[in-house]
Amino acid sequence: MEKFSLLNHYSVYRDSSIIPPKLMWKRIVNNAIRNYHTELWTVRVTGNPEFARFSVVHPHIRAARIWTAARTPRETSEASAAVRVLVNTREQPSGNNCRHCGHITLDSDTHAIASCQRLIDYRLTILRACNILPNTNSYDMVTLLLSAANTLDDETTRSICNFIHMCVT
Ligand SMILES: [Zn+2]
Repeated sequence: MEKFSLLNHYSVYRDSSIIPPKLMWKRIVNNAIRNYHTELWTVRVTGNPEFARFSVVHPHIRAARIWTAARTPRETSEASAAVRVLVNTREQPSGNNCRHCGHITLDSDTHAIASCQRLIDYRLTILRACNILPNTNSYDMVTLLLSAANTLDDETTRSICNFIHMCVT
């Protein structure tokens, strides 16, 4: 009760000796638990720089579509590749080679997703499906793709995760 700040409700009911109907009490408890978790989640997402991109793409506490759209183990591992990109805003050590074209880049994941010439055909198809302009800057393109994966239909979400997985593995 203390954890979810319900002691106050309890004392009011105890002192007035009016017991609320079961349904009302249930609603009070559910709200208190939801508020508790929303607050924890908000503090975690807004207080940690690693979640900068995540908090733009995923402003509300609910199951991410990226996860719910995945139906098979393969699609789940593609979704987890997309989520890794989503929560990782740190630059990789400089001088990384792109695993697709060999170019030396600052951030090989962002390069592969947003500008690698080897992946241009796949990228253009995905960008068209998401209505993202091909000349969008790299960081924004990655954020917009992940945002699209969280808001468009499941089929598009799976294609985006498939593309990101192909880029970063
Ligand atoms: Zn490349």
